[in-house]
Amino acid sequence: MADLESKLSSVIGDRTAKVLTETFDIRTVGDLMRHYPRRYLVRGELSDISELVEGDEVTILAEVLSSTNRPLRGRKGSIFEVVVTDGTDKLSLTFFNQAWREKELKAGRQGLFAGKVGVFNGKKQLAHPDYEMIPDGNDVDAAASSFAGKYLPVYPASAKMPSWKISKCVEMAIDSLDEVEDFLPEHIRSSFGYPTLHQGLVQLHRPADLDSAESSRERLTFDEAFLLQSLLVLRRNELRKLNTASRKAIKGGILDSFDASLPFQLTGGQKSVCAEIEADLAQDHPMHRLLQGEVGSGKTIVALRAMLAVVDSGGQAALLAPTEVLAAQHLRTIEKLLGPLAQGGTLGSHEGATQVTLITGSQNAAARKAALALAASGDAGIVIGTHALLGEKVEFKDLGLIVVDEQHRFGVEQRDALKEKAQKPPHLLVMTATPIPRTVAMTVFGDLDVSTLRELPLGRQPITTHVIPVMEKPTYLERAWARIREEVGQGHQAYVVAPRIAAGSDENADIDFLFGTESSDIASVEELAPRLHGGDLAGLRVAMLHGRLSSEEKESTMKAFAAGEIDVLVSTTVIEVGVDVANATIMVIMDADRFGVSQLHQLRGRVGRGTSPGLCLLVTNAIAETPARERLDAVAGTVDGFELSRIDLEQRREGDVLGASQSGTQSHLRLLRVLRDEELIEKARTAAQDLIATSLDLTSYPALKKELSAMANDMAVDYLDKG
Ligand code: ADP
Ligand code: MG
Repeated sequence: MADLESKLSSVIGDRTAKVLTETFDIRTVGDLMRHYPRRYLVRGELSDISELVEGDEVTILAEVLSSTNRPLRGRKGSIFEVVVTDGTDKLSLTFFNQAWREKELKAGRQGLFAGKVGVFNGKKQLAHPDYEMIPDGNDVDAAASSFAGKYLPVYPASAKMPSWKISKCVEMAIDSLDEVEDFLPEHIRSSFGYPTLHQGLVQLHRPADLDSAESSRERLTFDEAFLLQSLLVLRRNELRKLNTASRKAIKGGILDSFDASLPFQLTGGQKSVCAEIEADLAQDHPMHRLLQGEVGSGKTIVALRAMLAVVDSGGQAALLAPTEVLAAQHLRTIEKLLGPLAQGGTLGSHEGATQVTLITGSQNAAARKAALALAASGDAGIVIGTHALLGEKVEFKDLGLIVVDEQHRFGVEQRDALKEKAQKPPHLLVMTATPIPRTVAMTVFGDLDVSTLRELPLGRQPITTHVIPVMEKPTYLERAWARIREEVGQGHQAYVVAPRIAAGSDENADIDFLFGTESSDIASVEELAPRLHGGDLAGLRVAMLHGRLSSEEKESTMKAFAAGEIDVLVSTTVIEVGVDVANATIMVIMDADRFGVSQLHQLRGRVGRGTSPGLCLLVTNAIAETPARERLDAVAGTVDGFELSRIDLEQRREGDVLGASQSGTQSHLRLLRVLRDEELIEKARTAAQDLIATSLDLTSYPALKKELSAMANDMAVDYLDKG
């Protein structure tokens, strides 16, 4: 008999075990039991091909007619296409880079095929369907009826290890499996009516009916959420035990002077978030807070006030920005907001004033040396920079607070490299303009408290967004250029955004494949700028901005645009985050369907930042009622960033949602989907909190403790063991 830790080879033989290890890194019986079926093929629920409706999840019984493998045009990869028929109609099955399937999908063979019906070029298709071929030589009726009433698990498979073979191995493993010990405390299990771990594992692979498969899946999904939340709760408790210097503003200090000099009132939201942060900073354990808020919601001032409180306490704050453009802009904004309060160290400077300095990769040796000295001596209370801040030579006298702007561009590692420059664990404030739903925040940033700015400051101008469907209304595009001329005529400025730097550049190959378009169709900055300059926007001052320009070129172009010396900036998404030119009132986004929903929302936040309303025009070739077009309509239809980020997340793969730096997390989250399973995550969170409140270090639950430490070990490198 075997348990979950038994070597696989002891149950299914060396040779097969070796293949499973090589293809799926499955080494133990437990690994195999956790290689869950993706779905079940259910005999008796077969559909006619002629009656398939786009978007439906279907299973069909059909015969392979033919197959072809063709390379993608202009880039790597191939599409393997199989045509099948069930006598009523034909259907295409498409696979990306999987010509090896030809071995299984031979003409004349029958199989069950399952997937979501899509339409491409007017033809119905299943992209990457799951399938189970009926063994060769069998009488079809007999074979088909052998599936009757049975739920056939379909596994993630490979050329060497097709689904049916995996199925056989799992059967053997189940037959030799001893009762599995359940790590989930019994009172939690029974309160949710879940099966035991043993039942859950067995029934998921070998369901008697769909209900038991479903309850097993829920139990195992809950396990993932529960384990993760338990770790996060334990982790938070640990953070609270860490000791650090508390940072309090002093009466009549720099924070007070700053508040007195502010030309506007803080919004209610800003006030309450500032209060939360000040309370955090006053504690003697490090703050770990995420500040989310729309573009323009006024995060910078909130962060600056936190930095000033730290300066008041005699410490320093570092502000980490994702790009040089943004770092430079933060410096300008903060110097401007602080006015004389940023002139510390000069003769006759304001009492209590500090200095603000900038550290970036591209600055010259002299500037760098001066900045390093200011940071090391503590004379600079605020040090702004890009990832260059993480460099070895950068030292602080007393780093008390780290502010990270636009978290999604920095890995946890980078955050931590900066923390190491502090004597005591520093306080941490992470700012993001991409609002994320609570459960995602809980899963991705479980160790962070979340503050949200919901209202935009008074005086912020509304942004109107329209879709310009070029296919249906070609003349609308001319109207867009005319609108730019009008705005410029009134003394305003414009952005034109294109997805690419140069025609035919290959950066978006994946998107091309998904949308079935060719790179050459897609607008590029280098092609668009001269064309507009010589045509629709003739006479206007047009300039280009993109990532391949040198940092001096970028900097001088941004400066010129900010100074109003450029009318129209044709750029890539380099302007996406934080660029703040109040006089820009219109943005035209070319091939807008190539951008993510949240990205579009960020982009349009660049206009309407001054006293005039903003206009954003989304130009697209996507036709009405396609998913691409619906995304654009959604962006045009709301300015609610939360709603949009939800739409965005729903369309991304889970791995992207969780972030690349968390591979360890992902291998433990096989079933859990942070958006779909919101309720389950909330339940798991509460259960974990309640349990840990009654048994602080889980001594009464040794099985759970063991499971958690195994999980923590795997994640330590990239997730949890970081303070
Ligand atoms: P975010 O960083 O969240 O995108 P910013 O902090 O850059 O937003 O703020 C956007 C603009 O609004 C800035 O010009 C800022 O000075 C201004 N602002 C911030 N808070 C207020 C407020 N309470 N009242 C008026 N204007 C404000
Ligand atoms: Mg900002």
